[in-house]
Amino acid sequence: MSGGDKLDFEIRPNPAPVSAADRAALLANPGFGRVFTDHMVTIRYADGKGWYDARVEARAPIPMDPAAAVLHYAQEIFEGLKAYRTGDGGVTLFRPEANAARFVASARRLAMPELPPATFVESLRQLVEIDRDWVPEDDDGSLYLRPFMFASEVFLGVRPANEYLYAVIASPAGAYFTGGVKPITVWVSPDYTRAAPGGTGAAKCGGNYAASLVAQAEAIEAGCDQVVFLDAVERRFVDELGGMNVFFVYDDNTLVTPPLTGTILPGITRDAVLTLAAESGHRVAERPVSFADWQADAASGRLREVFACGTAAVITPIGGVRFPDGEFLVGGGEPGRFTMALRQQLVDIQRGRAEDRHGWVQRVL
Ligand SMILES: *Cc1c(COP(=O)(O)O)cnc(C)c1O
Repeated sequence: MSGGDKLDFEIRPNPAPVSAADRAALLANPGFGRVFTDHMVTIRYADGKGWYDARVEARAPIPMDPAAAVLHYAQEIFEGLKAYRTGDGGVTLFRPEANAARFVASARRLAMPELPPATFVESLRQLVEIDRDWVPEDDDGSLYLRPFMFASEVFLGVRPANEYLYAVIASPAGAYFTGGVKPITVWVSPDYTRAAPGGTGAAKCGGNYAASLVAQAEAIEAGCDQVVFLDAVERRFVDELGGMNVFFVYDDNTLVTPPLTGTILPGITRDAVLTLAAESGHRVAERPVSFADWQADAASGRLREVFACGTAAVITPIGGVRFPDGEFLVGGGEPGRFTMALRQQLVDIQRGRAEDRHGWVQRVL
């Protein structure tokens, strides 16, 4: 079946799903990324054949040849989004078409086949439907969806593979912050960069994360929560965190975030923040922010708040900044007023408690 045709999903229910009692116990404290639902979606791709064998089946290990291309040359991309329970027992997704479009863009950069956005969204809907009992019902919980694709061709030559596997797994998640939102401290990496011009920084690929782990470990060693990367050319301008975009809030009501020049992941939360802030009367600007200005403006008080944003934590205040030569606080190390209000506004839209003026929330069940 070629890329343009509609794919039918063959549904093979898990013959031995987790019992209701065990599921309830797991959902009581799921944490993040360690509990998984009963099913997964898989779709195969082969050159000349297109996308085929779309399935909803029991979640299980994926047999792989040791020469599968992904194990050697890292042709892999992924996405991440959350499914939310509505008050009446339905399920919604937040801007799944945006994830679908980004998945296409990532595929292009990694020389992989493009999954049609409608198939991407339908694959999410299929998984959420069969595993709907795994969507947490509490106010803070969600079902994290992880679509991904990798090169499955058995071949050691260096070129784009001609066979791929696309899959979606799902993992119930509890509140990201237990006991209230706490500002994080970030480590400005002196040695490592995340993405260079012309590289893969704008693609959501596993390789970017592999390259960021040593810097993240350095951040932890320095007593910080997350690493923040500076640009790879001048080591002057702030790019983003390992998996979150960053915003600066100034005393003249301006909100600034680094521009999408190819070295930054175009976050969907980032885009929503830009939209909501502009609507609430803030000036918003996408322009470079140097680390020197970050430090000087925090000292002068001109810079009031800094926060990171991404699907997992939504919006996280950044209260402290550490680097090899010193450290400083932003906003006295406390969560900023604007940061927290924006966080509440976005969470309320995502959970159907506030009006969704942009058609961001999509009901799938
Ligand atoms: C996924 C990701 C983000 C956040 O994107 P969202 O669409 O908001 O979840 C930011 N930076 C990196 C490096 C990412 O991988």
